[in-house]
Amino acid sequence: MNMKNGGKKRRRLVIHLILLFSLCHVLAGCGRKQDGFSTGDGSTPPVEKRQMIAMDTFMQLQIYGENAKTAADAATQEIARLEALFSAQDGEVARLNEAHGGTVSEDTAALLQKAVQLYEETDGAFDITIYPVVKAWGFIDKEYRVPKIETILQLLEAVDASAIGFDAQTGRVELPERAELDFGGIAKGYTSDRLIEVLKENKITSAMLNLGGNVALLGGKPDGSEFKIAIAHPEEQEKYLGIVSVKDTSVITSGGYERFFERDGEIYHHIIDPATGYPARQGLASVTIVCADGARADGLSTALFVMGKEKAVSFWREHRTEFDCVLYTAEGGLFVTGGLKDCFSSAYEFQVIE
Ligand code: AMP
Ligand code: MG
Repeated sequence: MNMKNGGKKRRRLVIHLILLFSLCHVLAGCGRKQDGFSTGDGSTPPVEKRQMIAMDTFMQLQIYGENAKTAADAATQEIARLEALFSAQDGEVARLNEAHGGTVSEDTAALLQKAVQLYEETDGAFDITIYPVVKAWGFIDKEYRVPKIETILQLLEAVDASAIGFDAQTGRVELPERAELDFGGIAKGYTSDRLIEVLKENKITSAMLNLGGNVALLGGKPDGSEFKIAIAHPEEQEKYLGIVSVKDTSVITSGGYERFFERDGEIYHHIIDPATGYPARQGLASVTIVCADGARADGLSTALFVMGKEKAVSFWREHRTEFDCVLYTAEGGLFVTGGLKDCFSSAYEFQVIE
């Protein structure tokens, strides 16, 4: 049953992502080629659209400007390059896990440093050494199963990002025995940051990138106004929790609904609480982070989901100048932090946290 359920849910996820992008699309007003996005002088800039499956997800790039085609080619190459590094199944990270150490590329080193910093800041809620536990639940081979408690406890002994050895001078990484890394909670955010850099190098000033629901924006729409990004509703595929109207930032969501399986009436999802080895159940159904740093937004969306609402709110209060967030609880409560007060709209009632 699990495999079957998982397959069905994955298909639903892809449909969901396509729908989500269509909505970003419609709301951002960028549905057609040269579709009325006028620039200051009233002309319409060229737009280049690309779609692909990469990093185990559906990606869409929408790039505006004279150089859009060349920029889209460069961005597509960059995605392939980073995928070959970050994959824990067949990338540089896979080889690192297998050998329990090695000298890594500049990108993997940068990602590792960001991930370890997040581990420290979030009190271990974000922990890239969670990989053996994620595997035990079947989220890698898609053979979903509920591991025995003894297995989980044994695997948890090697979950500790503070034990990763890293020499920034040489790029040398040392992993303790049995420790394995999983950048699945941060790699797409990092990738979107790199893509924005590549677009800037290609003189692009307006783009919307959607890496499986992780959205990164370069500038605003070609007419200078904000992009409007819809946040998926965890329970209702056709509905949205709300819209954030923003420019030059990342909007990244984590939710148990994104990848899960069902066993004996229980739902088990892919975001694991490193404190228990079980899917995090701290009362949140989804967390959206709005932050200019995409890697940080990605890591934080996973971490705040693990923390639960109360801890997430206190974390935000300590870091309120760095990011904002939208929290949706399993009970249907919708909360947005102060910085989004004027750029969030919703058909639902919501509370602003200050
Ligand atoms: P996201 O969709 O960004 O929340 O990332 C979820 C993915 O991150 C999972 O599929 C795992 O590969 C990995 N992951 C799960 N739990 C954690 C955690 N507590 N810390 C870091 N990565 C995690
Ligand atoms: Mg994440």
